[in-house]
Amino acid sequence: MGFATIIMPDGRTWVPKFVLEINKEKCIGCGRCFKVCGREVLQLMGMDEDGELIQVDIDDDDDDDEYEKKVMTVANGQNCIGCEACARICPKKCYTHAAMAL
Ligand code: SF4
Ligand code: SF4
Repeated sequence: MGFATIIMPDGRTWVPKFVLEINKEKCIGCGRCFKVCGREVLQLMGMDEDGELIQVDIDDDDDDDEYEKKVMTVANGQNCIGCEACARICPKKCYTHAAMAL
């Protein structure tokens, strides 16, 4: 079994690792990953005590009674190019990525 592989201009190969999951328990909602992703994959959401997700504004610093904390979510996973910039910048190691099996 092989993995989806990119051939770079100098002939080297690179295996992209696509975002699979963000650990909601570890995530502190800092938004760093959102800022480095150029593919509109991610979305910040509010999470209430039952784990239900609620729409929030990423620039809104006000704590809302409707949710317990903010967490990053994968809203458009199909846009991911597997660059792993989000995982590298995450201070809490929330990300799980994987290569695409062919
Ligand atoms: S791997 Fe790259 S494209 Fe995919 S979610 Fe992370 S930063 Fe965005
Ligand atoms: S960088 Fe990590 S801790 Fe911060 S919002 Fe993204 S997933 Fe959560």
